[in-house]
Amino acid sequence: MNADLIARLKQAAGPHGASEDPHEIAPHLEEWRSKYQGHSPLLLKPATTQQVAAILAICNEAKTPIVPQGGNTGLVGGQIPFNGEILLSLARLNRVRHVDAEANTVTVEAGVTLDGVHKAAASVNRLFPLSLASEGSCTIGGNLSTNAGGVNVLRYGNTRDLVLGVEAVLADGRVLDLTRGLRKDNTGYDLKQLFIGAEGTLGIVTAAVLKLFPVPTQRTTAFAAIPSARAALTLLARLNEASGGLISAFELMSRSGLDLVLAHIPQTRDPLAAKSDWYVLVEATGSGTFNLDETLRAALSEAMEAGEITDAAIAESDAQKNALWRLRESMSEAQKREGASIKHDISLPLARIPEFLDVAIAAVTNAVPGVRPVPFGHLGDGNLHFNFSAPKGEDEPFLARWSEINRIVHDIVNTFGGSISAEHGVGVMKRDEIVRYKSPIELDVMRDLKRTLDPNNILNPGKVVSI
Ligand code: FAD
Repeated sequence: MNADLIARLKQAAGPHGASEDPHEIAPHLEEWRSKYQGHSPLLLKPATTQQVAAILAICNEAKTPIVPQGGNTGLVGGQIPFNGEILLSLARLNRVRHVDAEANTVTVEAGVTLDGVHKAAASVNRLFPLSLASEGSCTIGGNLSTNAGGVNVLRYGNTRDLVLGVEAVLADGRVLDLTRGLRKDNTGYDLKQLFIGAEGTLGIVTAAVLKLFPVPTQRTTAFAAIPSARAALTLLARLNEASGGLISAFELMSRSGLDLVLAHIPQTRDPLAAKSDWYVLVEATGSGTFNLDETLRAALSEAMEAGEITDAAIAESDAQKNALWRLRESMSEAQKREGASIKHDISLPLARIPEFLDVAIAAVTNAVPGVRPVPFGHLGDGNLHFNFSAPKGEDEPFLARWSEINRIVHDIVNTFGGSISAEHGVGVMKRDEIVRYKSPIELDVMRDLKRTLDPNNILNPGKVVSI
């Protein structure tokens, strides 16, 4: 990049909109788990859509690649500039433009954190249901670009289902304004969907219109021991029927995962007296005069009689609810503190999960004697975090087999009709891996879209799909 180009880009980014200071750029170059490290000579921090547009017009003309970044909490390396690209932080594009309690919508700029969206919704007594452990840092632009999932997908859908409109800057700097926020609009292709889950490869998301919901007045949280993963599926169907579809979260946990949490996370305790191989954390939310606690209690008691659960506890207070959620949400952190692990963010047809668990755990255990399976995840969505901790004392040799273990698991996922990336995306981590599992036609269409919308390949090149 020559000095003239850098000067033009700095000017386009506006006052306080650029930095060449390595100390300021450094935190943007490494992701949360320190798995990926990049480098960039220039950080651009525009504060308006027009500034983003001016920056892209210059980059496109100069054929200079650029990597968008929101909160830098992505887990597949998508937000990291690996080849000295310009880094485009959307963090200063952070205005809440409009909250509409009647239409149940909020319009926010890309750099508003997910937590900020929750607060904007709460200010008009509404709920924005997307919920991730990273919500204090991740941004709505990143959430859209990764089509983030989280714990409420079962009831409300993933990010794609929660978006009514998008404003995006195209590779050549044109602003595509799709923010009318209509719930019904059948005037041709649904273009906003192109930018959701695209990981910054098709355009830069600068704003979004999001759906809001009534705040539920009742919340019931239960923790149940189950005899098998198959019993969890029967239990989920029973609880959804009994509550009229009010189950908002249904999280599977293995005993191995719970043990790691109890060992590494302070002030946690086992909620049930007897140990079980599997547990589920269930949450139901709703409003109205009926008693949700009683409904769930009755359904759990029937499930106990039917042998679908062996024990259960219903939280009696907010503190108890939070304590149960802490067990689930601390699982990644506990596994990190235990040592090396190899992870898989996968989804499967619901009915095939129990068989998949048997087959895939056996395959990895055969390949790595002593490996410790720690599966958990959003079972209601068919999404497992299918993780393995290293055999004790063997962190380095285990990590050296990362690709081999991934291959074993992903091949089985494919055989079972599943996906090798349920919520975290593709980035660089799975870019070459998806080529193995997607059909040539699917890959052709993806590449055609990329070439059409970004003919000079300046937008996050080398992520998601190689052209
Ligand atoms: P970044 O990490 O900055 O970027 C992610 C991708 O989006 C990159 O490819 C980047 O180039 C692109 N991008 C960012 N902003 C824009 C924009 N405005 N326009 C175009 N492209 C853009 N994910 C889940 O789905 N479910 C979970 O439950 C979950 N839990 C997590 C828990 C923890 C502790 C952590 C660290 C991460 C978790 N994640 C989860 C992953 C991550 O938080 C999500 O992928 C999140 O949506 C990323 O948002 P971000 O703003 O940090 O994006």
